[in-house]
Amino acid sequence: MSDCLFCKIVSKTIDAQIVHEDERAIAFRDINPQAPLHVLVIPRTHIATLDDILPEHEAEIGHLFTVASQIARAEGLDQRGYRAVINCKGEAGQSVYHVHLHVLGGRPLGWPPFPRH
Ligand code: 5GP
Ligand code: ZN
Repeated sequence: MSDCLFCKIVSKTIDAQIVHEDERAIAFRDINPQAPLHVLVIPRTHIATLDDILPEHEAEIGHLFTVASQIARAEGLDQRGYRAVINCKGEAGQSVYHVHLHVLGGRPLGWPPFPRH
């Protein structure tokens, strides 16, 4: 997907602060961090949203969670705790349409993570 921002990070067309990279996933620091740790873990494959995950993607998507856990441990958050979340489409606030797992931590995280109206 040549017009996808995160595909450009995968292909190194645009820079990112990469913290993990393997054959299936890349993880990099969010440009607008919402917590001391805010990393995005993405599949190398362009998958637009959670609703576009196909059976053949399941191993690749599952791997994102393994990477999230490794990053949290490396950042010293495995005992303190952290959050891993995927926003899907408009009302959830998805702004980049390439599946990404937000990994957040390093401060107490509120729940529910949205204001009540
Ligand atoms: P979403 O709102 O789609 O769940 O999350 C998209 C995230 O991507 C946001 O937290 C936003 O700050 C981050 N982001 C947007 N553009 C860039 C970029 O060019 N580089 C990096 N590292 N993060 C980005
Ligand atoms: Zn993409």
